[in-house]
Amino acid sequence: MSPKKRLGVLTSGGDSPGMNAAVRAVVRAALNRNMEVYAIYEGYQGMVDGGDRIRKFDWNSVAGIINQGGTIIGTARCAAFQTKEGRLQAAHNLVSLGINALVAIGGDGSLTGAYVFQTEWPDLLRELAETGKITPEAASNNVPLAVVGLPASIDNDMYGSDLTIGTDTALHRITEAVDAISSTAASHQRTFVIEVMGRNCGYLAVMGGLATGADWVLIPENPPDGENWEEQMCQVLKAGRDSGRRDTIVMVAEGARDRQGNPIHSNHVKKVLEERLGEDARVTILGHVQRGGSASGLDRTLSTILGCAAVEEILSDRDKSEAVLIGMQGNRVARSPLIHCVEQSHKVVEAIASGDYEKAMELRGNAFQEAHETLYTLMQAVPPSCRSDFVPPPGEPLRIAVLNCGGAASGMNTAVRAAVRLGIDKCHTMLGVENGFKGLIWGKIKELDWVSVRGWATTGGSELGTSRKIPEGRDFYAIARQIEQHNIDALLIIGGWAGYESAYQLYRQRENFPAFNLPMLCLPATINNNLPGAEHSIGADTALNNIIYASDKIKQSAVASSRCFLVKVMGRYCGYLALMSGMATGAEQVYLHEDGVTLHNLQRDLEHLIRGFKQGKRLGLIICNENAHPVYNSDFICSLFAEEGKEVFQVRQAVLGHLQQGGDPSPFDRIQATRLAAKAIDFLIAEATKESSAAAFMGLQGDRLDFQDLGQFPTLTDRSYQRPKEQWWCHLRAIADLLAEPVSHP
Ligand code: ADP
Repeated sequence: MSPKKRLGVLTSGGDSPGMNAAVRAVVRAALNRNMEVYAIYEGYQGMVDGGDRIRKFDWNSVAGIINQGGTIIGTARCAAFQTKEGRLQAAHNLVSLGINALVAIGGDGSLTGAYVFQTEWPDLLRELAETGKITPEAASNNVPLAVVGLPASIDNDMYGSDLTIGTDTALHRITEAVDAISSTAASHQRTFVIEVMGRNCGYLAVMGGLATGADWVLIPENPPDGENWEEQMCQVLKAGRDSGRRDTIVMVAEGARDRQGNPIHSNHVKKVLEERLGEDARVTILGHVQRGGSASGLDRTLSTILGCAAVEEILSDRDKSEAVLIGMQGNRVARSPLIHCVEQSHKVVEAIASGDYEKAMELRGNAFQEAHETLYTLMQAVPPSCRSDFVPPPGEPLRIAVLNCGGAASGMNTAVRAAVRLGIDKCHTMLGVENGFKGLIWGKIKELDWVSVRGWATTGGSELGTSRKIPEGRDFYAIARQIEQHNIDALLIIGGWAGYESAYQLYRQRENFPAFNLPMLCLPATINNNLPGAEHSIGADTALNNIIYASDKIKQSAVASSRCFLVKVMGRYCGYLALMSGMATGAEQVYLHEDGVTLHNLQRDLEHLIRGFKQGKRLGLIICNENAHPVYNSDFICSLFAEEGKEVFQVRQAVLGHLQQGGDPSPFDRIQATRLAAKAIDFLIAEATKESSAAAFMGLQGDRLDFQDLGQFPTLTDRSYQRPKEQWWCHLRAIADLLAEPVSHP
């Protein structure tokens, strides 16, 4: 039998929220796969120091850490590791403990270190053997060192992963701060210059700017055009003030520069605005706030998935002579050679340093470039026709109607704002329909201008109003008349199941009502995430965060007692919110309709809980989808567990209810809403020029943005349970089960 694999895990460089979730996943996934795990404290410094800085971890070593910010095993910058002597010492410490696999969680510096160490490892062991520090057997038995890097950096500056661990949480901190600052800025009609992190990466500034509806953004990769960029900025900001805007937000990345490479400091921007516009300007440097606090839902699930994948990579029979990076690309785990990722990441820095900004933007990828472009359009304070350089585009202007449908989902307003402004920017007339299809039937339709959607980027709910009305019978005639009377050329339906079902009904009635032969597009927006053709619907991420923050608080309320909480979450028949929140909170059991609930499983889970509480467990958390089972529902489970477990623990049910639908949209939802709305407008405009126009639903699937014909709606969905037949996230159930806190683990 081959000896147990021994795995070391460390966090290094700048800390980022989600590192704990990653460490937890690595430790538990490795234990589950019968490995021994050692946590290396304080990054590479701990590896060089050895001793009690390298500690064996068991299942409970990582209990209760998933919601904590920072990293419980510490992180550091270590000069010694950059020397051969330091790395020799580190290798000695690892070999002495028989550690022959390493998961390094950190930014590009840390991952460069991991690459260097892995490459040098055979030489280091040979040298240790030659100097008698280790035996020749130890040297030969431990080659190669399996190394996996997980990208963790709030800047999102790592090639090989669409998102790095910590970025989403940093965006949460930025949007919370800017939303708060905007209200005080508006009260006093002030301007705030907000500096965000990113020495060589404008990701936080661009996405933060998109998410908060900032009025001007400066980043390192794409400096403002021309020598007199200040004048250009002042013109746009002045136009905003003239049009009645009460607050002005300028977002500056830490590493912002002009085209000559001179740094643009926040204080310089403030001075310019004061001197040229007479603004009452203030600077707020968000600083380390951006790194702090509890990790967001997305960061917790991302870290968990990547952590588990790192362990699988170590155990795979793939060649271990090359270090790899495990990242997320197009919502799927992706492995790439670590060195390639590090080199590509450095190329952006080099391009910026050499003033090759075109290259820098190109290296950042399409999604970033598109986001940057959209941001610059949305930042304009007035419609294009009011600008001096306005040239009308070719083609007839269209009248595009937008409506919200289904339950409210945070991010609907963001999508409407983006659609309206981007439509107007292309010289079309944008119409808002009140209360979904009810409003379309009754003709509650009004023109939305550029200014009418001001502030909508950041607010929850639906300013247009929404309803679950699905047209039937005479409604079709009424809708056809309204379409004709208002000369509607295209229809954008931003909503959930009811919106899709309604659009499908119109599509089916096209032969009877020629008015329905206009381009129609459904943009996915529902907290349930139960729509076909879209892996993420707008609003689901906000709901997920609402659930996990509430569950964290509920967990805290029970520190002193033996209590098991059963949290009932929304989702209708779709278990997405339940499963993802279970994974993100470390719940020990999740009940979903997709899996069903059986008496047998309930009995097993109950016995598991009783055993756990008898062994000293203080707290339990169970998440139950609202429709997990018609009989074995959350009330039944609570009563059963309370009665059968009453000698050992208490049970409390928490029904989160509409708290899940409310609140301002999360950064992820704001960004996705904007991105989808931009694509939606392009799609509708293109379809309007065609002989027969498409009726479609859109969404991101993997790394593709897909438009699918509405005729596919019944084929792709299980309409009795209102969810897609195939749900991409179902395979994550295995990870959630694997990491669930068991009562007693060997
Ligand atoms: P981050 O990982 O957040 O980018 P740093 O760039 O500070 O943070 O790197 C963290 C640590 O990684 C450094 O203090 C050093 O110990 C190690 N490291 C970085 N670059 C190298 C290198 N070229 N060789 C060896 N170790 C390195």
